[in-house]
Amino acid sequence: MYRDSDSCRIVPRDQHGISRANISENALKVLYRLKQEGYQALLVGGGVRDLLLGREPKDFDVATDARPEDVRRVFRNCRLIGRRFRLAHVHFGQEIIEVATFRGGGDEEDASDRHTHNGMIVRDNRYGTLEEDAMRRDFTVNALYYNIADFSVIDYAGGLEDLKAGRLRLIGDEPEHRYREDPVRMLRAIRFAAKLGFSIDPACERPLLERGDLLSGVPAARLFVEVLKLFLSGIGLHAFEKLRHYGLFGHLFPATEDCLAYEDHAFPITFVSRGLANTDRRVQEDKPVTPAFLFALLLWEPVRRRYFPLADRGLAHHDAMVQAGGEVLAAQLSRVSIPKRFSLPMREVWELQPRFEQLDGKRPQRLAAHPCFRAAYDFLVLRAECGEAEPELVDWWTRFQGANGEDSAG
Ligand code: ATP
Ligand code: MG
Repeated sequence: MYRDSDSCRIVPRDQHGISRANISENALKVLYRLKQEGYQALLVGGGVRDLLLGREPKDFDVATDARPEDVRRVFRNCRLIGRRFRLAHVHFGQEIIEVATFRGGGDEEDASDRHTHNGMIVRDNRYGTLEEDAMRRDFTVNALYYNIADFSVIDYAGGLEDLKAGRLRLIGDEPEHRYREDPVRMLRAIRFAAKLGFSIDPACERPLLERGDLLSGVPAARLFVEVLKLFLSGIGLHAFEKLRHYGLFGHLFPATEDCLAYEDHAFPITFVSRGLANTDRRVQEDKPVTPAFLFALLLWEPVRRRYFPLADRGLAHHDAMVQAGGEVLAAQLSRVSIPKRFSLPMREVWELQPRFEQLDGKRPQRLAAHPCFRAAYDFLVLRAECGEAEPELVDWWTRFQGANGEDSAG
């Protein structure tokens, strides 16, 4: 191992654990092809981090000095995407290798142009050197490169040391500034801490406790994507506990947080935790999970609290649920958007709940034929597990499905 300058450490191929056997063939093809064409080409981000940790990477990202148009010239199976920053996607059937041109950091002169008044980066499309590309990344462990030219690992930010220590540390001296530039980094800190079991460096931890308000500046559509990564990657329960610990959950789901904070018995928190634990188990078992069910789960307590007074006021059960669901959803959308294709089935899951209690005549058959029946039944099971629905009711429906030849393998 040697230092190529004060700020850069280069680890040669025989002194790190990354083997080409563990890199996807398509990623290697992209790296070799770019190199052949005379460009720099390096693996970067979660792929390098996870390989060094001996974990299986989720995907492989490539960084290069080739411009997006050059990348497209080299690969026929390539599409350029992104408005904020142009990226090249090289397609190999199902697998997409993302190729990003080295991005520059902000020098003072340009800074006012790149930041909004509260320090958030709105435009970020300047190219830079490899070192600049490293410095604008979020955590040191995410800024490690695997260089296809000599198979070495390049570390500009002290990521190798942090990786060894199991520590998440933002690049740069001012963590709060980095969170202000992009508040989604706060959620990324939680996600990586939950996923990797890493600690968060104390200086990077403090703003998490104090500056959750920054999340209000993030577009609701981007938060939707991050919420799915937090709760549908198999680490949802961990992520939920950490988000609550740092006071960030309430910035994403304020109505739910109110219910959790004012809980007078253990129900709401048990319900969300159990639901997330079930979801994590399904992910680990490679069973499908859906955003519709996830959001139904996360927003159920506020819906329920709104439902009871409406039903008491004499509204029919179904109408009360429609109205309660509509109100809770409308308020939620200003924080985290939920596309209609997920919010519609989410509302069905809620609206079907009162119908599980109507067991007369042909009603059960009709309910069982509903496209959202299975999800709604799973939801009922969860409610019963938490003491909010009668176990006898679940038993009835379980028997009913058995008798009607439905498979209940779920
Ligand atoms: P995983 O794919 O396992 O979730 P990852 O670290 O690869 O984790 P991606 O979202 O795929 O995360 O991003 C790839 C890389 O891009 C990151 O490792 C990081 O270097 C950089 N990056 C992503 N998002 C940001 C951000 N908000 N600010 C700075 N750098 C970022
Ligand atoms: Mg990645």
